[in-house]
Amino acid sequence: MRWSWKLGRVADIDVKVHATFLLLLAWVGLSNWFSGRSAGAVVAGLVFVLLLFGCVVLHELGHALTARRFGVRTRDIILLPIGGVARLDHIPSEPRQELWIAAAGPAVNVVITAALFFWLRATGGWVPLPELSMTSGPMLERLAVLNVFLAVFNLLPAFPMDGGRMLRAVLAMRLEYTQATQIAASIGQGLAYVFGFLGLFTNPFLVFIALFVWIGAS
Ligand code: ZN
Repeated sequence: MRWSWKLGRVADIDVKVHATFLLLLAWVGLSNWFSGRSAGAVVAGLVFVLLLFGCVVLHELGHALTARRFGVRTRDIILLPIGGVARLDHIPSEPRQELWIAAAGPAVNVVITAALFFWLRATGGWVPLPELSMTSGPMLERLAVLNVFLAVFNLLPAFPMDGGRMLRAVLAMRLEYTQATQIAASIGQGLAYVFGFLGLFTNPFLVFIALFVWIGAS
């Protein structure tokens, strides 16, 4: 992918970052500056985003390492402002394998959430959830909450989400592959309409997700 730089290599897979990711960092830095008016607030905001994207890398490694078990190579992992992409060489022809590969990403987020939860409970660092916001409250607890969000978001049964791939894999166990893709994509587009409609009346972020899902499904 153009405009991406190599950050490093994990488990023999290049981890790259796309130039637009810098825009996200700039935006987080600026918004923390305007809300906190201190260098400390800016640094805390940036550290949090980097930790979050560390979790995204682990999620993608979940896909990549599961794919490797089935003999599928991963070209690289690219970090974009909207999340990460593990670029697999090909999709395995065995639907069961695709199901495992797709499920491995969200499973990583569930494991991270559980680990952070038990760690915070054991060390007395857990605060009641209503006391938490995007910018205040223990950083690791906010990270745990966002990992729940990442798992749920990725499990939506719509392309290009992992849940959409899992749905196609399950369908492909019984149907023709192209037919399975068609049905999964239609369900994805149906969901996109529902999100877009709900988003208009509730949260504009849902409209953004709807757009993303709709483009992926078509
Ligand atoms: Zn994923």
